[in-house]
Amino acid sequence: MPYLDNNATTRPIPEAIHAAHDALEQHWHNPSSVHREGQAAKHALELARADLAALVGLPPRHLTLTASGTESIDLAIRGVLGASPKNTLITSRIEHAAVRDLAEHLDKTAQARVRWLNILPGGLIDLDDLDRALAEEPAALVSIQWANNETGVIQPVREIHARCKAASTFYHCDAVQWIGKLPCPESNDHTAPPADLLTFSPHKFHGPKGIGVLCVRPGVRLRPVLQGAQELGRRGGTENVPGALAAAAAARAAAEWLKAESSRAALAALRDRFERAILDAVPSAVVNGADQSGAIHPRLWNTTNIGFPRFEAEALLLAMSEQGLAASAGAACSSGSLDPSPVLLAMGIAPEIAHGSVRFSLSRFTTDAEIDRAIDIVRAAVARLQTFLTP
Ligand code: PLP
Repeated sequence: MPYLDNNATTRPIPEAIHAAHDALEQHWHNPSSVHREGQAAKHALELARADLAALVGLPPRHLTLTASGTESIDLAIRGVLGASPKNTLITSRIEHAAVRDLAEHLDKTAQARVRWLNILPGGLIDLDDLDRALAEEPAALVSIQWANNETGVIQPVREIHARCKAASTFYHCDAVQWIGKLPCPESNDHTAPPADLLTFSPHKFHGPKGIGVLCVRPGVRLRPVLQGAQELGRRGGTENVPGALAAAAAARAAAEWLKAESSRAALAALRDRFERAILDAVPSAVVNGADQSGAIHPRLWNTTNIGFPRFEAEALLLAMSEQGLAASAGAACSSGSLDPSPVLLAMGIAPEIAHGSVRFSLSRFTTDAEIDRAIDIVRAAVARLQTFLTP
């Protein structure tokens, strides 16, 4: 069965399932307890934190464990705004809803002033507009994703971070789509992730759902959202020990896989083959993420977002799902909505294309045979639905 959906493919790997199982059996004590079993759970939790920290090249004490990428992002943004005398948040409308909806809420409820950045055709942040925004007024925080969850387009995070540094503004990077799929830092030339705050989510690299990570550099003041002594006072609540141990197992496996660049190149070639076959079969289809010259921006190796003009994405998704191909329209968490993706609209994609846009994601386990089958399924779904289109 081909599964080309990020959420379907990122089911936990056996190592993560075994780690969670062992933790439930051996480390079900409260890691805050002083007794021996509690301290053993605490020790296991700290080893897990070290594995997660190794994946992002940071010391373990910089990491706060939460219950999701969304919660980590919420803590990063509210936490910095709550501790800062400045009130402005600079972000964009192509962020995941975890950032976008929070920014809209903070703006609407006058908890922050939000400055939305211009987006260039193809989905890159307009760095000139970032310069203008940083010069307009002192901002507490800039929040820009590393890679987009719908198109895979990669943002120039080093340039963003350098501009933030020069303006004495903290930079939060939503790295949920990057970490585990590409190295962090990106190459040996760089010694640290390009951000003051960085968030990621182990379920994107075959860990379990229900655990997220926030990395905070020393010097960043953060007001906790959940009060409590756990996580060095940054996030109250008894820790999810099985989730953390399973996430650590996934992080170790991802770190191993990331060592060979050739694996990523091979998967990118599979994605490209899939894309070409679909564009050949459906000449009106377009890849979302191209600039005005038609060039596609650097993207994650696993994502393609294809617009099928005149089609409804939901009809395509249902037809493909019947044949075993799991894809999504927009963010997976907003699937079910009939509205076109706000991210694609913010990128300047015409509503009639956004309405018929589908996101296909590979995992590191996707095979040649699955791609062949996926191509057949998409072709058949398009051919079937074409008969319902008015000429
Ligand atoms: N940010 C991005 C870019 C994402 O893709 C996602 C989830 O898909 C999130 C944030 C939210 O993470 P979580 O699902 O762990 O809450």
